Amino acid sequence: MEKGDFARPDFDLAPRAVLRAYVQMRLDRRHVSTGGAGLLTGACVQSPAAVPTPTQPRYPGAPLKISEDRLMRITVCTRPFRPAGPRLDREQFDAKTVIHNYGHGGSGWSLSWACADQAVSLAQPAEGSRAAVIGAGVIGLTTALRLAQAGIAVTIYAKDLPRETRSARATGVWSPSSRIGLRSAVPDGFHDRWEGWARSAFATHQHFIGSLGAPVEFIPFYSLRSHTPPPGGPARNDFLHLSGRVGDLGPRSRTLPDAAHAFPVASARRGLDMAFNIAAYTDRLVRDFLALGGRMVRRSFAERSQVLALSEDLIMNCTGYGAKALWGADELVPVRGQINWMPPQPEARYGLYYEDVYVLSRGDGLVVQYTGPNDDFGYGIEDETPDRDEMRRAVRTVGSLFEGARV
Ligand SMILES: Cc1cc2nc3c(=O)[nH]c(=O)nc-3n(C[C@H](O)[C@H](O)[C@H](O)COP(=O)(O)OP(=O)(O)OC[C@H]3O[C@@H](n4cnc5c(N)ncnc54)[C@H](O)[C@@H]3O)c2cc1C
Repeated sequence: MEKGDFARPDFDLAPRAVLRAYVQMRLDRRHVSTGGAGLLTGACVQSPAAVPTPTQPRYPGAPLKISEDRLMRITVCTRPFRPAGPRLDREQFDAKTVIHNYGHGGSGWSLSWACADQAVSLAQPAEGSRAAVIGAGVIGLTTALRLAQAGIAVTIYAKDLPRETRSARATGVWSPSSRIGLRSAVPDGFHDRWEGWARSAFATHQHFIGSLGAPVEFIPFYSLRSHTPPPGGPARNDFLHLSGRVGDLGPRSRTLPDAAHAFPVASARRGLDMAFNIAAYTDRLVRDFLALGGRMVRRSFAERSQVLALSEDLIMNCTGYGAKALWGADELVPVRGQINWMPPQPEARYGLYYEDVYVLSRGDGLVVQYTGPNDDFGYGIEDETPDRDEMRRAVRTVGSLFEGARV
C-alpha cells in the first residue's frame, strides 16, 4: 500500500480546482486534518444517488480483530526506489543483450504487467530462442511469463525464489504512482509513459478477478478521518503523485453519513480498492510460467560478469533493489516498509486507512502497516529488522477503532 493511492475521489462531479486540491490533499495525507474538512465536503456533496441508504450495515463485515496478542509475524522490505523512475532499457555486451527492468519503488505489483510488456518489446526476441530472467519477484515473474507466452524458452535464475522475495512482502493494493519517481528527476515524457503503464496494467490485472484463489479482487475500503489527526507535513523529497491522471479507473469513493458506519471518527469515505492477494497471485504466476515450460533455478550472482557468462544471449535484469549491488545501480534508494500480520479474517474482507495506519484484510492475512506522516517515511533506510515499537503503535491506533466491538 502506498500513500495517497488508496481511494479515488469523484472526478466527474467536483469542480476541477477543488478536485485537484482534494486529490493533492489526499496524496499529501492531509486529508485527515481538520483543515481539509471543508474541501472534503465540497468535493463530495453530490446527487442523492451518491449517499448510501440508511440500511447499509454499520460495519462492512465483522469487526477486524487487531491486537498485539494476535500477531503472526512482522515482515520488512525495502522498496527499490529510483528517482528517475523505473529503468527500462537495453544494453549490449558483445553477443549478450541485457534488458533492464528494475526500480519500481512502491508500485511494482501495480505496474508489473505493463513494464513486462515494454521489456519484451525492447528485447524483440525471436520465437524459439532462449532467455534468462534474473529475479523471481513480481517483475521477474511477469517478464518471464510474457516471454514464455511469446514462445521463448525461459529460465529464471534467482537468489530468492518467489515466496522469499521482497515482492512477497508487499501490502497488495493497486498503488501505481507510489514512490515511482521524483518530480525533479524523471525524464521528459515520463508522466505520459507512466499513464500508459497504469492503464495497461490495470486492464491486465482484471483478467485475474474471479480466478481460483482470488489473486485480484475489489474489496470495500474506508478512509477514516480522525477527530485528533496526527501531525503531518509535506515530504522533503518531491515525490511524483500521478494517480489523479487515472482517477477514472475503477469504482469511486463516497462520503458516508455518520449513521451509516460504526467507526468512532470525524468522517468516513467508502470506496472499493483493487487488492492483490499476494500469495495466491504469486502461486498463479508461478503455475502459469511452469505450465508454459519455464524453468526456475536458484542461483546467486556476485557480480555482473557471472550474469554475462550465462549461456542465454538474452538476459532480463529484474533484480529489484539487488541491482544496486549486482549492476552498480547506485541511483537506487531503499525505502523501508514494515507489515504486521494477523490471521486471515474471511468474514471481514475490507480495508481502511486511519491516522497514518493502513489495514487490509487479505485472503492470506490481515495486514497492518504504519505508513508514517508522508512519503519520506523509510527513505534511505536499508535495515530490514522488524521494529516492534512501530508494530505496537500501528496496532494500538487501528485496534482502537474496534474497541467494544470485539467478538
Ligand atoms: C512494505 C511494502 C509494501 C508494498 N506495497 C505495494 C503495493 O501494495 N502495491 C504495489 O504495487 N507495490 C508495492 N510495493 C512495491 C513492490 O513490492 C516492489 O516494487 C516490487 O516488489 C519490486 O519487485 P522486483 O521483482 O523488482 O523485486 P524483488 O521482489 O526484490 O525481486 C528481486 C529478485 O531478484 C533476485 N536477485 C537480486 N539480486 C540478485 C543476485 N545478485 N543474484 C541472484 N538473484 C538476485 C532476488 O533474489 C529476487 O528474486 C511495496 C513494497 C514494500 C516494501
